Amino acid sequence: MKHIRNFCIIAHIDHGKSTLADRLLQTTGTISDRDMQAQALDNMDLERERGITIKSHAIQMNYKFEGQEYVLNLIDTPGHVDFSYEVSRSIAACEGALLIVDATQGIEAQTISNLYLALEHDLEIIPILNKMDLPSANPEEVTDQIVELIGCDPNDVIPASGKTGLGVDDILRAIIERIPAPKGDEEGQLQAMIFDSVFNPFRGIIAYYRVKNGVIKKGDRVRFLNTGKDYNADEVGILKMDLSPKKEVRAGDVGYIISGIKTAKEVKVGDTITLTADPCEVPIKGFEDVKPMVFAGIYPVETDEYEELRYSMEKLQLNDSSLVFEPESSAALGFGFRCGFLGMLHMEIIQERLEREFNMTVITTVPNVSYYCYTTRNPEVKLLVNNPSELPDPSSLDHIEEPYIKAQVITKSEYIGQIMSLCIEKRGELKNQVYLTQDRVELSFEMPLAEIVFDFYDRLKSVSRGYASFDYHPIGYKTSDLIRMDILLNAEQLDALSALVHRSNAYDLGKRICVKLKELIPRQQFEIPIQAAIGAKIIARETIKALRKDVTAKCYGGDISRKRKLLEKQKEGKKRMRQVGKVEIPQEAFMAVLKLN
Ligand code: GDP
Ligand code: MG
Repeated sequence: MKHIRNFCIIAHIDHGKSTLADRLLQTTGTISDRDMQAQALDNMDLERERGITIKSHAIQMNYKFEGQEYVLNLIDTPGHVDFSYEVSRSIAACEGALLIVDATQGIEAQTISNLYLALEHDLEIIPILNKMDLPSANPEEVTDQIVELIGCDPNDVIPASGKTGLGVDDILRAIIERIPAPKGDEEGQLQAMIFDSVFNPFRGIIAYYRVKNGVIKKGDRVRFLNTGKDYNADEVGILKMDLSPKKEVRAGDVGYIISGIKTAKEVKVGDTITLTADPCEVPIKGFEDVKPMVFAGIYPVETDEYEELRYSMEKLQLNDSSLVFEPESSAALGFGFRCGFLGMLHMEIIQERLEREFNMTVITTVPNVSYYCYTTRNPEVKLLVNNPSELPDPSSLDHIEEPYIKAQVITKSEYIGQIMSLCIEKRGELKNQVYLTQDRVELSFEMPLAEIVFDFYDRLKSVSRGYASFDYHPIGYKTSDLIRMDILLNAEQLDALSALVHRSNAYDLGKRICVKLKELIPRQQFEIPIQAAIGAKIIARETIKALRKDVTAKCYGGDISRKRKLLEKQKEGKKRMRQVGKVEIPQEAFMAVLKLN
């Protein structure tokens, strides 16, 4: 155990975590130069394309330092706020963290939120100033920021470049010299914490864990404490570039277990593995059942593809336990599923994976958060509502609660004004304002999560010209004056477009949604009224004028090939159209609320 070091890398997105991880793998010979493929750790296509790490992974490196062999376990963490629970578990599996800061950018929101997580778990922090090869690097100022933030000696900050390899040897030395070896009792009862799992189509679920105490052996009967289920440890081992089976994995080390588990749901990140025959009494602390934060309907474009969609979602769920779904039906869209996601990015990823990996064309409805409703008849009982159209009748409602978040924005001082007005417009309340340096400031807000779902990122980016980073975490539910706004198209209510909105901006929002829908829904053979309503009361109206002529009319009937082309083009355009009553509605219209001008 003395020669093991467990560490993670934390950084704001794009500060160079994956690149530096690759350099460490290369320098320690874990991966040969020939096999080196940019960003070896991000092995899902989608991750590589988007340049983000979605799932965390772990890898063991062997490194000889001053004549002594060391085992260095690098635990990679996802870099996006949607996956912050996974980040916290990965951090809990380590004794140290490399804190990477881009020397051209300085400290950003995720640098700070991840650092706080690491400090909560008493991790030894090794600050790294990355991208030193760039001429625009600003080492003095960024070093000051880091020193100010973590209270270290300026000499502790390691200048580095994932690109040129500068500083990599210093980083390896710091990992060995500064990060403490794991503590734990090899003779004690088995206690191993699961920090991640992956689905393998041939072997089932592979769970990754850090052994805190005891030893896990191949063939052991083990118990997952929080789910209470027992399994056979068919295979245990350590993680190299591939799985490397071993007879046992001992306290302090990081390993994997294969035990015939078929679905990701059974393996909960944060759960404790122990021996069935000699179980430890208390689970490792910090376990949480992750709850979806954002909900939306997913419907097949072709109604007869419902079963295929169900099959695809079940497959996706095998390797993504944070995806939840249940069947729902919509008067407008027919049969589909109400899905729960960790956040907006997670939602986009699921939609994209359905299309890429399963070749499904789907319609996603406006996302919403989940609400607690209290009725006047039974004010003690809270009802969880994940779909605005399921809201109890307003006359029977006592009050509604919605989820709130604490948000951190880091920006240049010149944008404070605009960002404050944006946050106030989004029903936020400024809680704190701290200057990190003369012209960089950290703003803390409390605001409703629902407002983040509705085009917050784009607005923030535009008011700050890109000079703002943002992070948040949930802080619980608060009472809000919310009402349901319905949308009627051609006098028919479109349930998929109903939304819960704050009473104070219902009129304005209703107007803007109608205008946007008018823009998005193509003109058809007849006039289509668009209305926004609260209960029976119409609060806004727009009209889509009827088309004068048939589109094919201008082909003079003669030119067949042109006519066919035009029809094919129309068909193409129809791909994401849904016929609702008499009206054809494109996918964008279902998301109109998110893209209001
Ligand atoms: P991550 O989001 O923290 O994993 O960041 P990546 O490792 O994906 O890097 C983000 C971008 O910065 C990529 O385009 C990298 O090629 C680039 N990058 C990373 N490290 C360096 C560096 O040290 N120098 C330079 N010039 N570019 C770098
Ligand atoms: Mg990355």
